[in-house]
Amino acid sequence: MITVDLPSSVPEPAEPPVLSRHWDDEQSWTLPNYLRRNGYQGLKAALRMRPDEVIELVKTSGLRGRGGAGFPVGTKWSFIPQDTPAPHYLVVNADESEPGTCKDMPLMLASPHMLIEGIAIAAYAIRARHAFVYVRGEVASVVRRLRAAVAEAYDAGLLGRQVLGSGLDLELVIHAGAGAYICGEETALLDSLEGRRGQPRLRPPFPATAGLYASPTVVNNVESIASVPAILRNGTDWFRSMGTERSPGFTLYSLSGHVARPGQYEAPLGVTLRELLERAGGIRAGHTLKFWTPGGSSTPMFTAEHLDVPLDYEGVGEAGSMLGTKALQIFDDTVCVVRAVTRWTEFYAHESCGKCTPCREGTYWLVQMMRRLESGDASEADLTTLVDITESIVGKAFCALGDAAGAPIMSSLEYFRDEYLAHFPGGCPFDPARATAFAD
Ligand code: NAD
Repeated sequence: MITVDLPSSVPEPAEPPVLSRHWDDEQSWTLPNYLRRNGYQGLKAALRMRPDEVIELVKTSGLRGRGGAGFPVGTKWSFIPQDTPAPHYLVVNADESEPGTCKDMPLMLASPHMLIEGIAIAAYAIRARHAFVYVRGEVASVVRRLRAAVAEAYDAGLLGRQVLGSGLDLELVIHAGAGAYICGEETALLDSLEGRRGQPRLRPPFPATAGLYASPTVVNNVESIASVPAILRNGTDWFRSMGTERSPGFTLYSLSGHVARPGQYEAPLGVTLRELLERAGGIRAGHTLKFWTPGGSSTPMFTAEHLDVPLDYEGVGEAGSMLGTKALQIFDDTVCVVRAVTRWTEFYAHESCGKCTPCREGTYWLVQMMRRLESGDASEADLTTLVDITESIVGKAFCALGDAAGAPIMSSLEYFRDEYLAHFPGGCPFDPARATAFAD
């Protein structure tokens, strides 16, 4: 039963913003407003194709996962076995909680139907009849906005039985998580969704083989799924005309910290921090860039030397870090790097789920060491101990959280070892009482 009349699609420019183009429109989140700006045209196009053709199209587009790892989206969809009697599930990871990462929440607030449309397309492609959005429960405004949009979509025949009069039946559930960083890890998220304590599962099997209720499951990030409708509307050449050969398309970069105008900046992949800072008004007046993260605190930090690194998966990787969630946390010359790293380390220790020993015990000891170093009650030999502990976590923990905890420590030691040394004896050189100590 078709209850919405979709107007014809309006041509779109091959340049960002695409995802955030209408964020400032009045009531941008309502279905009538979304329909006026090509809403659900991508789904209409998808339903005219076979599911495997939709997968092929998304593969050809080169869209890579926007949750951090950059895994090709179409390839992930193609892993879902088509010949099993088990149901297939689509799960959207909206548990955004990497420090500095704040792109999915504004996207869901401003354009919930862009996500719902992407979900319908993805579910059609992988032949799923049930989809879930696992969203941070603390962000009640987003949960409410999503639920209201889902209700609108059901009323309009865009979810439920025979979506847009097609053979697609799709039930969509918005599930609010309970505030654990680890539940953003895809297998911990699935455990939590099944009603258990969220802790990572051993991979393989990856969710594509055995995910929710041990059935084939695609887990995709919000931004990945929300990028799909525009690709269906405009085609793969349009998408590939933005970004780089191996990291095509547009994406959201989150700029936070000591920047004149923090916020979300949509740009083609491969843009540099220097270019983004020009749009964001630069580092706050009277100060200079000291260090920054390309993808949240889980990715090794960069310094002012890296202003021209292309912010795509290859460019950031070649420069020694990871693009991750594209959360650019900017720190100026007033910040003590040891203090910042201590704070991040406390976060990882707090959020460690406790399942594996290297992460549970190791992050605890990292915090003890970092606090000691920061207070000045340490010696150069303690830096060796810090590295030893970090090396016994990185690559040895059950999931990526352990590696994440090591990233800021190892990279800060690479670039700012002198600043660690300047802490002892006596404590932080950025403490006004010791203002000249670091200069000495
Ligand atoms: P990963 O590289 O192990 O996997 C990425 C995705 O590809 C997963 O969905 C996985 O199931 C799939 N995959 C990989 N190999 C596969 C295979 N052989 N067969 C089938 N599927 C396969 O990365 P990850 O551990 O899932 O995630 C790490 C990333 O998470 C980091 O890059 C980090 O930036 C990011 N992260 C994001 C947030 C956030 O708030 N968005 C928080 C913490 C970490």
